[in-house]
Amino acid sequence: MTILTQEIPTQAVGRRKALDAYGRHIHYLRVSLTDKCNLRCVYCMPEQMVFRPNEELLTDDEFVIVLRAADMLGFDKYRLTGGEPTVRPNLAGIVREIAQLPGTREITMTTNGLKLAKLAQPLRDAGLRRVNVSLDSLDEAKFHRMTRWGHVNDVLAGIAAAEAAGMTPIKINCVVIRGFNENDLIELACLTYERDWQVRFLEVMPFADVAEFQQATMVTTAEMIAHIEATLGTLTEVNDGKLDGEARVYRLAGARGEIGFISPVSAPFCANCNRVRLTADGTLRLCLLKDGELDLKTPVRRGATSDDLADLMQHAIWRKPWGHDLANGVIPLNRIMSEIGG
Ligand code: SAM
Ligand code: SF4
Repeated sequence: MTILTQEIPTQAVGRRKALDAYGRHIHYLRVSLTDKCNLRCVYCMPEQMVFRPNEELLTDDEFVIVLRAADMLGFDKYRLTGGEPTVRPNLAGIVREIAQLPGTREITMTTNGLKLAKLAQPLRDAGLRRVNVSLDSLDEAKFHRMTRWGHVNDVLAGIAAAEAAGMTPIKINCVVIRGFNENDLIELACLTYERDWQVRFLEVMPFADVAEFQQATMVTTAEMIAHIEATLGTLTEVNDGKLDGEARVYRLAGARGEIGFISPVSAPFCANCNRVRLTADGTLRLCLLKDGELDLKTPVRRGATSDDLADLMQHAIWRKPWGHDLANGVIPLNRIMSEIGG
């Protein structure tokens, strides 16, 4: 893929539409509200993880200034993530702020589900449309081994509350880790016979200090599909193979729900990328798997307006990299997944 031109065209600035140099329209912001978490998943962070001091994270008011800038640039879709977004105080207030932005079309959240039983209804009332809940195994012992601290029943209670609050269709995220849960795919896939959930299996991605473990335990989508089909029969493509976000989606014969595969390592979906990320400490990260970032916290703390930030963001988005370089052995080094947001 060649860059269209090196410089951002001035009319693109005037139009306040965030395009990158490859012609991709960037209108989806993943917002990491905190780097902190109430779990310590083995594939995400070390057990002795050291988090950033709260003063380094954007305050609610600072988030609002940046989110208004995103709105000015035509962003219309937001996903709240973390760390674990539900440990951020005043989460419903932040959702309400995003819902009130003039251009907002959709607000979703990725969560480990532990606190959803209490939070689902207030979040729905505030404007949260849907949730993706991470669930790596239905087996309590395996789930606990993977998350180090978690219990399956808490997650299931959270999912039930989200469904009761109308945050459907529920999407389940399962990161497949060799030696931990690669045989649990079948039980998780079978959930789709009874429920209209989308159960998505993710290839694990490598980040910084955790990369060695992540690369050693990675299971490819091809292997996952072969395993499921050998046990449960043919998976039929849904939507003529078109991506649903980043997932390729299939259905088992007779199932109500769908099975998705997210394959950032074996089949990158960079050509369809429409997103950038805002980290909890106020940087705009242009690609999940590349280290390039724009510091927004410093200008905010020096008094920049949303208008000023929109300019900075628009110029940075123009320079969004085409894609990642995992195939050439280049991995992100400056942050791990929980410090970026999935
Ligand atoms: N704490 C929330 C959760 O676990 O859902 C939100 C943040 S978490 C970083 C977002 C998603 O990324 C989760 O589905 C998690 O399983 C997934 N994830 C974490 N580390 C990953 C990695 N190295 N590769 C692929 N997915 C990962
Ligand atoms: Fe926490 Fe989510 Fe990372 Fe697990 S995957 S440690 S729940 S941020």
